[in-house]
Amino acid sequence: MTVRTRFAPSPTGYLHVGGARTALFCYLHARKHGGRFVLRIEDTDLERSTAESVNAILEGMTWLGLDYDEGPFYQTQRFDRYHAVIDDLLARGLAYRCDCPKERLESMREEQMAQKLKPRYDGRCREHQVDPATPHVIRFRNPLDGEVVVDDLIRGRMVFSNQELDDLIIRRTDGSPTYNLAVVVDDADMAITHVIRGDDHINNTPRQINILRAMGVEPPQYAHVPMILGDDGARLSKRHGAVSVIAYRDAGYLPEALLNYLVRLGWSHGDQEIFSMDEMINLFDITDVNKAASSFNTDKLDWLNQEYIKVADPSHVANLLRPHLGRLDIDPTVGPDPVLVVQAQAARARTLVELAAISAFCYQDFADYDPDAAKKHLRPVAREPLTRLKAAFELMALEDWTPESLHHVVEGVAEELGEKLGKVAQPLRVAIVGRAASPGIDVTLQLVGKDAVLRRIDRALAYIDARAGAV
Ligand code: GLU
Repeated sequence: MTVRTRFAPSPTGYLHVGGARTALFCYLHARKHGGRFVLRIEDTDLERSTAESVNAILEGMTWLGLDYDEGPFYQTQRFDRYHAVIDDLLARGLAYRCDCPKERLESMREEQMAQKLKPRYDGRCREHQVDPATPHVIRFRNPLDGEVVVDDLIRGRMVFSNQELDDLIIRRTDGSPTYNLAVVVDDADMAITHVIRGDDHINNTPRQINILRAMGVEPPQYAHVPMILGDDGARLSKRHGAVSVIAYRDAGYLPEALLNYLVRLGWSHGDQEIFSMDEMINLFDITDVNKAASSFNTDKLDWLNQEYIKVADPSHVANLLRPHLGRLDIDPTVGPDPVLVVQAQAARARTLVELAAISAFCYQDFADYDPDAAKKHLRPVAREPLTRLKAAFELMALEDWTPESLHHVVEGVAEELGEKLGKVAQPLRVAIVGRAASPGIDVTLQLVGKDAVLRRIDRALAYIDARAGAV
């Protein structure tokens, strides 16, 4: 039997990290077993579903690289099918019309709550002939006794008594099918073998199994994934900062780092932290996912992201960096190749946003000197080395503007002055970067380029003079 999983988001917001982790688990389980991964958009709630949200979900899936084999299927395009199933259940006496007025249902509910009972429909219309012309809902005739046993792949065995389950509405008064009905019909029609979803759906599972059985379909296997908590122990939500996958993209995370982080939330393989996609597919086993909730830890995500920035192919990182440079008004086609920037700076940034910020000097003149760096290094004693460096750089041909030759020139000037390299390199660094930290001076010079180096040395000399004059 081919393994078939589905990710079934409701398009009522963006794709959040919890959803992305569920999607990843569905994806890995399908890939590991040579199966198929289906994307289904559960948009039956017409009031809350939006096209923007559908787009945000698709955009998130694409950015993460979670390719689906089938879909996206939209539930709103399958209403005819849901109605056919509902009508069939009605015809077979497995569902019935209910015209209980709202007031009756409400007072029943209040009474049950007052008696500390679980609110449930009392089944009044079960044996009642309701005129199809009067407003009514359709309810599923849930079995009255027996139990539903779910051997959950994560939770283990869960047993639900049918007495606890009431007769669920499967078609509303306005004629629309309800969520639980649509899910069941889709899981059956799409031949889903493994339903992997958030554990907030556990209560729906026995009801869905009963409807599947009424349809004559053997239920799939279920795996309910525990929720993700914020660092304060509450369910992860907007309150905890970024939760949308696209917000992580915009904050400079690599999709592979986020996936790697998410796979480790509630699953582990020894103490291995870094997993390539192939490793995830080979090693992941849904039955190894923890039962307990896990907490989101941004420091760990940052650490992983930095590891990925360091070890990933620099041209891949450069492609992801370009839009972040663009957000700083930098046109990366004018200036050094971003691949060189990544090679020089990768170890210095936790995110692509930081990487872009600390690399802006390669493309544009910085606004101000870091005050401490300028105070320490742009002093009158720096005039001589900077002037000599400028003269030497001016003589260099553009094709010689390489880290090796540049190193040679800086070393030569230090020797002429009988100074240590640092005494020459630090004022130069502050002159061309504005700060006292950057990659090696030779690479820094290469990245900034000859014109900008000469211009910025002039600026530093003017700064030193102005400061000396002001004293
Ligand atoms: N549409 C549901 C949700 O977004 C998921 C339903 C399911 O996976 O069965 O929470």
